[in-house]
Amino acid sequence: MNIHEYQTKELFRHYDIPVPEGRVVHADAAAAAVAEEMNGERWVIKAQIHAGGRGKGGGVKIAESVEQAQELADELIGMRLVTPQTGPEGRLVQRVLVEQAQEIRQEYYLGLVIDRNSQRITLIASASGGMEIEEVARRDPNAVVREAVDPAVGLLDFQCRKVASRIGLTGKLMPQAVKIMKRLYRCFRDKDALLAEVNPLAVVADDRLMALDAKMSFDSNALFRHPDITDLRDFDEEDAKEVEASGHGLNYIALDGDVGCIVNGAGLAMATMDVITLCGGRPANFLDVGGGASPEKIANAFRIVLEDPNVKVILLNIFAGINRCDWVAEGIVQAIRDQHIEVPVVVRLAGTNVEEGRRILEGSGLDYIKAERLDDAAQKAVAAIGEVSA
Ligand code: GDP
Ligand code: MN
Repeated sequence: MNIHEYQTKELFRHYDIPVPEGRVVHADAAAAAVAEEMNGERWVIKAQIHAGGRGKGGGVKIAESVEQAQELADELIGMRLVTPQTGPEGRLVQRVLVEQAQEIRQEYYLGLVIDRNSQRITLIASASGGMEIEEVARRDPNAVVREAVDPAVGLLDFQCRKVASRIGLTGKLMPQAVKIMKRLYRCFRDKDALLAEVNPLAVVADDRLMALDAKMSFDSNALFRHPDITDLRDFDEEDAKEVEASGHGLNYIALDGDVGCIVNGAGLAMATMDVITLCGGRPANFLDVGGGASPEKIANAFRIVLEDPNVKVILLNIFAGINRCDWVAEGIVQAIRDQHIEVPVVVRLAGTNVEEGRRILEGSGLDYIKAERLDDAAQKAVAAIGEVSA
């Protein structure tokens, strides 16, 4: 789960990681008043969306007066901001962070990730922070310093000093860098994070190090023990259908094809998507209904898949082990009856109670396309689209 920059900075304050003074402004609040409240002559107005590259996309602006702070905030709030990370449709900006602007002398990159090879939280740092870090990492991987943390002892001072000195954070900056690294690590561990990123970590006036940008994401499987983090979830930043599906216990990921898929088990769902592709079709989604799916859950799966206007056919592929084909069949009947489904529905059932399931479907008198095997089902689904559009 991702959170906004302003929320991450609030968390940083609790861990004594230095961040600029600032406040978030929603559509209805006055940016001018917020800017006036803070001392300073210049302010940074920053669009709050769950995507980076805002600087490049025009989502980070400097205001020279409180009036201009208001103008820039008004301009950003309500716009769809397109950055290299949002895709062409961009993201709606619903709030901005108004901060005291800092005079930047140097920009560094500091991050913590979980390195899957070493299976350790790993500190990543670079002297080339700022907006070009991805480019730097590609062009010159040696410019990026890595230091794995032994979980038994945690991040140690000597490791921080080593990393700091290798990226040129020496002299007065070294002890500040060590503190920031250790505090960031503590925050990361305490909150079961997957990623923490400070880019830029900047040297500002009076040789102070400060986190000017802040990003964190958290392990969704650990959220049950972090109600404070769970509260920060912003559903507006997530795919509405995926949110709704997870509320029904369905694992749904939207894709851009036109064959709607309803499958049990992640492995079978992946295999189904592969076979659809092999047959010349394109899956509209990944959807795993899980085990022991009730008729209602199956009907909900139909509803969610059909909310995607691109779906031209539905392929339901259930290989029932823990599931029961009779329940699945009841769900299909409910869906076709109640949801006025206009697209063809291809059904492949196998496994537990399959005879009973087939009987329910046949007895319903409803219109659907029967398939025996997966390849057969995928071919029929792709062919059905051809017939619909012909
Ligand atoms: P990102 O592009 O989404 O990563 O957004 P950032 O928060 O990193 O902002 C982009 C860039 O804006 C930074 O790399 C800085 O160069 C610049 N910036 C951010 N805050 C300040 C500030 O207080 N003063 C100045 N002069 N520049 C800033
Ligand atoms: Mn940044």
